[in-house]
Amino acid sequence: MKHIKHAVLIGFGLSLVLLAGIYLNGFYPFGKSKVKNPRPVPPFEIPAKQPGTPYVYFIAIGDQGTGDANQRLVARLMNEKAARDSLHFVITLGDNIYPDGAFSARDPQWKRKFEDIYNLPFLNVPFYASLGNHDHHKNNGIHAIEYSKVNPKWVMPDFYYAFTKRIDQEHDILFIALDTDPISEKAKTADKQIAWLEEQLSTSTATWKIVFGHHPVFSFGKHGHEKEMIKRVRPLLERYKVDAYFAGHDHDRQLFEPVNGVHYIISGTGAKSRNTQYGPKTVFAATNLGFVWCRVSPSQFHVQFINEQGEIEFAYTWEKGNVPLLAYSPEEWKVKKEKKKKKKNKKKKKKKKKKKQKKSEASEYLE
Ligand SMILES: [Zn+2]
Repeated sequence: MKHIKHAVLIGFGLSLVLLAGIYLNGFYPFGKSKVKNPRPVPPFEIPAKQPGTPYVYFIAIGDQGTGDANQRLVARLMNEKAARDSLHFVITLGDNIYPDGAFSARDPQWKRKFEDIYNLPFLNVPFYASLGNHDHHKNNGIHAIEYSKVNPKWVMPDFYYAFTKRIDQEHDILFIALDTDPISEKAKTADKQIAWLEEQLSTSTATWKIVFGHHPVFSFGKHGHEKEMIKRVRPLLERYKVDAYFAGHDHDRQLFEPVNGVHYIISGTGAKSRNTQYGPKTVFAATNLGFVWCRVSPSQFHVQFINEQGEIEFAYTWEKGNVPLLAYSPEEWKVKKEKKKKKKNKKKKKKKKKKKQKKSEASEYLE
């Protein structure tokens, strides 16, 4: 009898550990992540391609480096989308290799979590990478740069860098890959990067300016708005008329109303999904696996949010020079923090009360 009891207990314990592992890894076999307070998806159109108009096509994926079935599923959907609607390159929004980045340029994780996953015929395009917090673990960030020297499909000349894509003879897109981890962590190196970003943006004559990195500026996902990104990056995006900022980190997809002309897009569902929610300025939010596909012409920027069925769940288009300059300060961020503070204060008060009660109870006994 005793043996059976022990076996049952051990079995129960093991299954708990397994469930916790599955949960912590963000893989949900028993129920999917949710949008907690969803609003109806606004009606959307997909503008027809204009004959004779040149286009640049790219995909933004983030938080993809698990090497598991989820990552493979998203890769398959990306390949299908590329086959159907074209693709020139991919930008990665960080957390390329979970859990701790790559330990060298020859780390076998590159094969399992990158090469073998995106080896599909229509994904034979450059992947312009940016680093996430996980890629930086154990000072491993440098190995992603070294890896770009042994695999030309992986493009990462430095921790942060810029490149330009021509749309036609007269129009081009400037892309800037940021290394947001040191910025959000207030590392000393952040000053140099911010100065570099300002120089890149202020001297660019590109038709479109896109900045991307791991940490969002605004987000209503688990991590929320990033204070340092709001403080240091947001003003530059606005001052130099950046068209869009792409980020991951939160394992969901989000789009907000443009803030002073800048669109904020989150695509962090390359292999994981996590609950998210709508905020006051959210246009669209979704979770579950998927990615963001973009089509850019000299005058029009078209974004599609693709879900884990490969369907277009929402699309959004803006014309150059025709973006409302709606200004809003990150009130929500303040509200969130204040609420947290209030909660903390409440907890403190409760604790004090309990202590007092205990003391008085103790004194009662003494009497
Ligand atoms: Zn992250």
